[in-house]
Amino acid sequence: MATQLPDPVGAGVYDVYTGAPRGGEVPAAAALGLEPPRFCARCARRMVVQVRPDGWWAQCSRHGRVDSTDLEDRR
Ligand SMILES: [Zn+2]
Repeated sequence: MATQLPDPVGAGVYDVYTGAPRGGEVPAAAALGLEPPRFCARCARRMVVQVRPDGWWAQCSRHGRVDSTDLEDRR
């Protein structure tokens, strides 16, 4: 299943929760809906994360912002 997730969560290079190399594995959108990412999946930078009652957004200084509402459209 090809992912269309934005790079900061869907690049698969680094784990969005630990920042460790991930080897192409991408977290499921459903999992991201429950727990916001902390690291950019493309460059492993620590992202700025804002949690809201209805979701979250996470922003990499280089790769931009991802909003959880954008991910829900892809479930
Ligand atoms: Zn990045």
